Amino acid sequence: MSEAGDDPRRRIPRTDTLLALPEVSAAVEAVGADSVGAVVRDAQARARAGEITPEDVVAEVLATLPRRAASLRPVINATGVVVHTNIGRAPLSAAAVEAIVAASGYVDVELDLSTGQRAPRGAGAIAALLSAVPEAGGALVVNNGAAALVLATTALAAGREIVVSRGELVEIGDGFRLPDLIASTGARLREVGTTNRTSLQDYARAIGPQTGCILKVHPSNFRVEGFTSSVSLAELATLGPPVVFDAGSGLLRPDPMLPEEPDLATALAAGADVVTCSGDKLLGGPQAGIIVGRAEVVQRLRRHPLARALRVDKLTLAALEATMRGPVTPVAAALHCDLERLRSRAVTLAAALGLGEDSVVEVSGRVGGGGAPEVPLPGFAVALPEQCAKTLRTGDPAVLARVEKGRCLIDLRCVPPEQTEALTEAVRRALTGTS
Ligand SMILES: *Cc1c(COP(=O)(O)O)cnc(C)c1O
Repeated sequence: MSEAGDDPRRRIPRTDTLLALPEVSAAVEAVGADSVGAVVRDAQARARAGEITPEDVVAEVLATLPRRAASLRPVINATGVVVHTNIGRAPLSAAAVEAIVAASGYVDVELDLSTGQRAPRGAGAIAALLSAVPEAGGALVVNNGAAALVLATTALAAGREIVVSRGELVEIGDGFRLPDLIASTGARLREVGTTNRTSLQDYARAIGPQTGCILKVHPSNFRVEGFTSSVSLAELATLGPPVVFDAGSGLLRPDPMLPEEPDLATALAAGADVVTCSGDKLLGGPQAGIIVGRAEVVQRLRRHPLARALRVDKLTLAALEATMRGPVTPVAAALHCDLERLRSRAVTLAAALGLGEDSVVEVSGRVGGGGAPEVPLPGFAVALPEQCAKTLRTGDPAVLARVEKGRCLIDLRCVPPEQTEALTEAVRRALTGTS
């Protein structure tokens, strides 16, 4: 007797039946046929393998439907580290997000609509930079901080020498080192001084007709203490060759809370010819490399062939302009958040979780992302058992906590109020899952 009629595999719903389900066809519309098709095939394969019953296939498909077309998953940042490279550095302001959406279609990025003529690309973002930093004669936006530095050093010193202190030849992260980056431009590094001390005479002795520029780098992710000396921008500016300053973190003007962090306005006033920084660190905007400086030097950079290869897209220009013109950025809000408010939010979270006040602990947050390593950011966190960290990280929504001294710390500094409820629920689930 044939068993075929009883084979449970015959009861597995067919692909076209599954694709016709309203939720599934809506998902195809939203995220595309490929990823939805993969979910459907996967559920059918599991049923064929006997891992689920044929009757479970529909529920399995519905439970695993992809919700987004891209695989990047939003993360709630409970680490207390404001600019965290591994989770995308600066979160954008609502104004910046809106600007990105508005710029995502056809947009007048290089067109003057009143004349119908071609217009300079990204004029709005550049105007915003120049009004935020009036000390600058010109401004230019490129792909990232490293690109800004490469463009400046290539345009000013390719085939010649860049004079730089040995104490400033830093690794900027993920194995990328400034000396290698600069060597890739075709300029030669002329290192002066020592790791801890460099004097004006060290620079002066190295300068000659072969000098393309002097480079000063803000060593943003480490600090040399003790017997140290370095030469100020104002002194370097007396030497003659153009001075390029890599400020790193992107403060536009001084911030009293970050007294050691350089800012573009002060660096230009001190005599730097070109200052470069990142858009997505303390500036709180999209990934970008910002170049400000004397008008004729910036124009030289803009005209260099490499500038075309380092060009930013319209979305970046839109987000950057909105970041600078718009309201307080999430990065600034997290850096300057009120200590008492931070404590009361932690107490409220602990109470919502049924934890005592003793679970609220003092912690030190960080700026992160190669910014202000020496500045502690005093704050408060809710301490949980260490194993909660993994449950939270792999949960939905994904929550990144800080693990320290055998505890999982939930720091609300970088959690905007509208995420508090989702965070509370995620932590509640993690606590029941791991207790
Ligand atoms: C972060 C940093 C860079 C690199 O900037 P990206 O935007 O990451 O390319 C270069 N120099 C310094 C001093 C930095 O802090």
